[in-house]
Amino acid sequence: MQVVELIARKQAGGELTDAEIDSLIRQFAVGEVPDYQMSALLMAGYFQGFSEREGLRFLDAMIRSGERWSFADIPAPKVDKHSTGGVGDKTSLIIAPVVAEAGLCVPMISGRALGHTGGTLDKLESIRGLRVTLARDELARVLRDHGCAFGAQTSELVPADKRLYALRDVTATVAIPPLIAASILSKKIAEGTDALAMDVKLGPGGFLRSDSEARELGQRIVNWSREYGVRTVVFGTDMHQPLGATAGNALEVSECLDVLRTGRGERRLLELCTLLGGAMLWLGGLSASHAAGMTAFTRILETGRGYDRFRRIAEAQGADPAIWREGEQANPCKNLFEIRAEQDGFINEVHPREVGMALVELGAGRKSAADAIDPSAGVLFAKHRGDKVTRGEVLATLQWSRSVEASSAQSRIARAFDIAPAVPAARPLHYFTIE
Ligand code: URA
Repeated sequence: MQVVELIARKQAGGELTDAEIDSLIRQFAVGEVPDYQMSALLMAGYFQGFSEREGLRFLDAMIRSGERWSFADIPAPKVDKHSTGGVGDKTSLIIAPVVAEAGLCVPMISGRALGHTGGTLDKLESIRGLRVTLARDELARVLRDHGCAFGAQTSELVPADKRLYALRDVTATVAIPPLIAASILSKKIAEGTDALAMDVKLGPGGFLRSDSEARELGQRIVNWSREYGVRTVVFGTDMHQPLGATAGNALEVSECLDVLRTGRGERRLLELCTLLGGAMLWLGGLSASHAAGMTAFTRILETGRGYDRFRRIAEAQGADPAIWREGEQANPCKNLFEIRAEQDGFINEVHPREVGMALVELGAGRKSAADAIDPSAGVLFAKHRGDKVTRGEVLATLQWSRSVEASSAQSRIARAFDIAPAVPAARPLHYFTIE
């Protein structure tokens, strides 16, 4: 295989054969295809697209790049959730311990920050001591003892996705729908889940370029999962505005811990957790219908037991028990900056992509693959879409700790808030379901 020929063929709108995709992924996973060639191929694929057959073959090759795990010895139903990624989307940290409390087994292999969106693994690593790079036996032990474990792609598990994901992040090539499906499903199939509740984001805060592209991706994820025996339900949900009260790693963890402890939180965040968590309980056979699953999810969330479950999982993965006593202030920030309203009115939009890009500039995400994350970098929203504001009121507070040039992030966040004279029309959180 000559990678340069594959790049040229893709540039011209041609297709790669199954054998070429197999060799490409096998060699890339072990470092035999250099990043610059894979980046060029990704960029050609971004513009020319990959066919359904090519995407499915990428999925297969990525799964085969590592081990395929099974936790058949754990009797509980294995059910996971995943999202195509958004700004402030922190639902995994709330949902996983709550459904584990209900009796599901959640082997959650997640991703890192991608483009302008956050990643579950970076959020978890803002908890002092917590490790996400777990070998199979360690992950199995945490799963068996606590019903949920949070892991990363490793050199054993989907190593091809680990490398490809990091490269797509820093080359603006995330938005290739067949590769999004292959990336997500490779992790989920290799981790050995029986069922999956999938959240496909619609809107500029996600990666899909149109609503029809999001629906198409949802249908593709359902079809491909079926080929591997994973029962999947896809929800198309809103990403025209950030989700919840915060965005940024440590801030999002604190927000999730508050929700788990009190059962209360920002309305749309709770609604989305209930939609997805309820689906997991239904897919796992613990509830008779999706509606019954949502009721059961809310009941457990309100007990606060998910908080204790999360602490046990985190400590089993190395979290320092002292952080709970410190009120989760393990990531104090050095700098704060308030964004204030320049006029009276109502918040018409909070543009999520501007927020996400501002956070990358502050160090919450990566500009290049080797960048380290500043866990304290983030934004706390004082106002949400639809809220009334008066001139001079605080809209949001930015925080960070590194010495970075923050003025561009500050003006991006200010630009993210669009204030209008009238209350904006309500926007749904949930657009469609594909079973
Ligand atoms: N989440 C993933 O795991 N992969 C993608 O490509 C996008 C979101």
